[in-house]
Amino acid sequence: MNVLVVNCGSSSLKYQLINSETEKVLAKGLCERIGIDGRLVYQKSGLDKEISELDMPTHKQAIQFVLDALVNDKTGAIKELSEIDAVGHRVVHGGEKFSSSTLLTPEVLKAIEECNDLAPLHNPANLIGINACKELMPNTPMVGVFDTAFHQTMPEKAYLYGLPYKYYEKYKVRRYGFHGTSHSFVSKRTAEFLGLDINNSKIIVAHLGNGASVSAVLNGKSVDTSMGLTPLEGLVMGTRSGDIDPAIMEFIAKKENLSIEGVMNVLNKDSGIHGISGKSSDFRDIRAGAAEGDKRCQAAMDVFSYKVAKYIGSYVAAMNGVDAIAFTAGIGENVGKLRKSIMSYFDYLGVKMNDEVNLATMAEEALISTEDSKVKVCVIPTNEELAICRETVALVK
Ligand code: AMP
Repeated sequence: MNVLVVNCGSSSLKYQLINSETEKVLAKGLCERIGIDGRLVYQKSGLDKEISELDMPTHKQAIQFVLDALVNDKTGAIKELSEIDAVGHRVVHGGEKFSSSTLLTPEVLKAIEECNDLAPLHNPANLIGINACKELMPNTPMVGVFDTAFHQTMPEKAYLYGLPYKYYEKYKVRRYGFHGTSHSFVSKRTAEFLGLDINNSKIIVAHLGNGASVSAVLNGKSVDTSMGLTPLEGLVMGTRSGDIDPAIMEFIAKKENLSIEGVMNVLNKDSGIHGISGKSSDFRDIRAGAAEGDKRCQAAMDVFSYKVAKYIGSYVAAMNGVDAIAFTAGIGENVGKLRKSIMSYFDYLGVKMNDEVNLATMAEEALISTEDSKVKVCVIPTNEELAICRETVALVK
């Protein structure tokens, strides 16, 4: 079965065509600057990337270009559109309505729209992409895979905030968590990789990318995670602050004469690693800066790793123990020095790192603790597109 995986943002759209039997990517790419001017990046497996400047006033037009590229006589990955058996869409927020992936029926689309308030930047864009695909491929089954769904198993004590209960009742203000597709994929793969019985396991996943979150996965189910109502809570990220004293918002607003939107903009776009270092949100730049003796880059790295360690520590408490800790995403998969610094806080758990393997591991599965370490530590590359493909196949087969 061939599955087209679509991740649609407000002005961009990423796609992969995956054969579900071989799990090979047949073609992949993205559309950028939709509604502005337009650029299509297309790459058939084994061939060079093609970049075309194309007028893309709407998402429908962008998807039409993607479909045209996929069936192109010379570089297409398939001969005709009927070879696309299903489409899997990433949907950011499913609120409390979706605890698993689902076929995208008209009722489901309405329910997703009802979650728009909770993710005003993302959900409307996801819906635009879904509707555009439905128009162009009306007979192809479509599935929605939610970033929040995996975390719907969190108990009330983990998802309720210390706020008036009426805000939960009236507006559903609670912790939802994100990166669920990645946390689910990586926790399952960690259990397989280490030979653990997932139904009898305590796994902590540290998804450390530009956006970053940690989750506690008990017996295969998420019981806590660091992101909240929105992806702003939790770890210090590329440009997001993560947890702060909420009173700082009023303090800064008064001092800098900012509106709520202005403060939110600072917390989402000017904070985190970028804010502390004053240099970049890209971890490669920060690492290079720290290596050259830049104190603020070093501070950004230290704050980042200390915060990850604190979350891991709190999830050891939440699960009353831990069997395995898995690192994933751009930073988690590639920066051995940072993994070492995070794990240095866990001697008390009997963690013993294999420094040689840890420092040499980049973007590949590896056990980076010693065989006799009481808690196993590993790198498990995430693959959200493949996870969406698998979820889609499970629903349309
Ligand atoms: P992601 O959001 O998962 O794509 O991760 C993006 C982050 O990972 C950025 O901060 C990148 O700088 C960082 N990253 C990706 N590859 C590397 C690498 N080889 N070394 C250091 N950081 C990396």
